[in-house]
Amino acid sequence: MTIAYVALGSNLGDSRRYLTEAIDAMERLPQTRVDGRSRIYRTPPWGVVDQPPFLNAAVRLDTALAPAELLDALLGIERAAGRVREGERWGPRTLDLDLLHMDGVRSDDLRLTLPHPRIAERAFVLLPLNDLAPDLEIPGQGHVAAMLAALDPSGCEALP
Ligand code: ATP
Ligand code: CA
Ligand code: CA
Repeated sequence: MTIAYVALGSNLGDSRRYLTEAIDAMERLPQTRVDGRSRIYRTPPWGVVDQPPFLNAAVRLDTALAPAELLDALLGIERAAGRVREGERWGPRTLDLDLLHMDGVRSDDLRLTLPHPRIAERAFVLLPLNDLAPDLEIPGQGHVAAMLAALDPSGCEALP
């Protein structure tokens, strides 16, 4: 079994429900267990700022799926949530599932880059990841708590 971290985001429709249903769907994947979940955060949009705020969270999985199988499964859960890939990058979406890191795995493929290359610059990823694994070292990027401390997370808030 390998530990994997997944970031969840949504800013269209009933975002809280998309996030919780995605976690349930990950729980139902073969050979996979959800063994930790972060709080849910409301965060300002990133990259394309003229769109509604996001809800973001992260989960830790314990999985025997291969990295490419896990990515395909996550893309399938996005499609089931009505995710449409069109329009500008980083635009509004019902559900985004990014594979952040899998223990011991590196991948330089454009289809699957691991660790995810933009963790260090994103408070909306690091806040939930810090709930789960503050001491995690992301190879090539750094220590989760230290990367978060270097960012300005103002505008992000944990929801009750
Ligand atoms: P970003 O990656 O900057 O967060 P995004 O999530 O908006 O951007 P998408 O349109 O959701 O980007 O995904 C584009 C492609 O990225 C996917 O089809 C997928 O194959 C690829 N990809 C590469 N590495 C990863 C990864 N670690 N997790 C998820 N998708 C990845
Ligand atoms: Ca993303
Ligand atoms: Ca994505």
